[in-house]
Amino acid sequence: MTMSRYRAKRDFSRSPEPEGGQSKGGADRPIFVIQKHDASNLHYDFRLEIDGVLKSWAVPKGPSTDPRDKRLAAPTEDHPLDYADFEGVIPEGEYGAGKVLVWDTGPYENISEKDGEPIEPAQALERGHLSVRLFGKKLEGGYTLVRMGDDGDADWLLIKMRDDAADARRNPVSTEPDSVLSGRSLEEVAAAAEDDG
Ligand code: MN
Repeated sequence: MTMSRYRAKRDFSRSPEPEGGQSKGGADRPIFVIQKHDASNLHYDFRLEIDGVLKSWAVPKGPSTDPRDKRLAAPTEDHPLDYADFEGVIPEGEYGAGKVLVWDTGPYENISEKDGEPIEPAQALERGHLSVRLFGKKLEGGYTLVRMGDDGDADWLLIKMRDDAADARRNPVSTEPDSVLSGRSLEEVAAAAEDDG
């Protein structure tokens, strides 16, 4: 895996985002992170630690806890593991310019299967059908990512699995808008970045 696409898009002398030098991997369980990103369009970046990088999708509407919702998830470039706790402001003129906060994070478990047998996440990604169990603060339980087509650039759908954590009445994207790491809103993240100069 390479960070070349990630690095090529960014000027680290201008953006406070991590360069991804050191790896924080190797914990017992891999992590997921969902970053709320107020760029040209507000979206939620859904990232899963797989084989030493954060595999990433941009979800315009954010994740749902209702299994009937199919949320569009556009694949984006791999991000370094140390991006998982990044909150801040990407300056004007830079790739992804706008505010970022950590909307949810925690460990996850790969529960992908093929023909009833467990398969590795990398294989599930290649097949275009990946299932995970999240242990977040806002989101819990199973989610499935399904690629719509065989083309590697095809969009995916993010769908809540039917389990105990499924709840059509919840809408955490609107009722729990702030950071799970710092408790800050996007506006507070922006104000702090301004104070830092
Ligand atoms: Mn983004």
